[in-house]
Amino acid sequence: MENIQAFKRLLDVPRKVVVVTHFKPDADALGSSLGLAGFLKKKSHSVQVVTPSDYPSFLAWMPGNDEVIAVSKDNPSPGLRAKAAIAEADMLFCLDFSALKRTEDLQDAIRQSKAVKVLIDHHLEPEKFADFEQWTTASASTAGLIFNLIEELGEEDLIDADVANCLYAGLMTDTGGFRHSNTTRSEFMIASALVGRGANPSLVAKLIYDNNTLERLRLTGFVLAEKLKVLPEYRTAYMVLSAEELKRFGSQTGDTEGLVNYGLSISNIRLSVLLHERKSEIKYSFRSLGDFSVNELARKHFEGGGHKNAAGGTFNGTLEEALKKFLDLLPEYKSKLNS
Ligand code: 5GP
Ligand code: MN
Repeated sequence: MENIQAFKRLLDVPRKVVVVTHFKPDADALGSSLGLAGFLKKKSHSVQVVTPSDYPSFLAWMPGNDEVIAVSKDNPSPGLRAKAAIAEADMLFCLDFSALKRTEDLQDAIRQSKAVKVLIDHHLEPEKFADFEQWTTASASTAGLIFNLIEELGEEDLIDADVANCLYAGLMTDTGGFRHSNTTRSEFMIASALVGRGANPSLVAKLIYDNNTLERLRLTGFVLAEKLKVLPEYRTAYMVLSAEELKRFGSQTGDTEGLVNYGLSISNIRLSVLLHERKSEIKYSFRSLGDFSVNELARKHFEGGGHKNAAGGTFNGTLEEALKKFLDLLPEYKSKLNS
């Protein structure tokens, strides 16, 4: 971090801190936030973690989960409490997103807040709104950036097993279990240090990956058997899930996470996309291999973004229109997909 000394001085006295994740936080967003919160609490700050929406139940084991304020579409109270906490904060940490619009209903409260703002993130093309940044796309996870920041502060000793497990969860999931191309030596060094501080790799893997409901597993079976389509000429796989189908399988938040990766597990496929219907929009999840940038694709056509090989976007309209928009673009990208 640039200005690390000024940042360090800010943390010398107890602060009212709020940590915000992106909408529908994943294990990296929530794990980095709860890891940071656990660390800052040890330094005597008062810390409130806020999420702009609910999140998967397989993240609820994370220490600190019970104190999170999760904004809800069905109940105005958490949203009001979240906005009040943001308005009263002296320091606001924004974790695992690079564009404020990803905080949805909290965006205005964050923009208006007088707090010192700190961005800690690894997504491409960050919006400039923060006073301090711990930002690089070279890090596979935001959790890793939290570890690096604690290291820069010289305070690894404050990482206990709870903090270590939260950070390890973010690192493990954003590298796809240390398999994606973003897995470098540095990721293993951080993992090693976290295990040294008490993280339990097999426990975290079990809690995240082997914590399915039967419904979720059945949904996966249904998608693989009936919804996964392949377009060999474009080296593309896609899956479309309607709200009715999700309902039929009793789907909960997070149940679609990871489905898109199955497309890329087919040999010769370079681009995989999952479209699913949310309450007020269609959500795209994109994954790619090699130089094909889904960040560019999502940014240019789907009001989204992310990383080169993993990105997301949205569409306002029907599922059919959303699929057509994607399919109509493929001829334009045919040579890139086949190069
Ligand atoms: P996922 O497909 O797992 O939801 O997201 C893949 C990656 O893209 C994640 O790093 C996520 O944070 C990012 N991402 C997902 N949706 C959006 C979006 O609508 N806008 C932007 N800028 N990034 C997104
Ligand atoms: Mn992340």
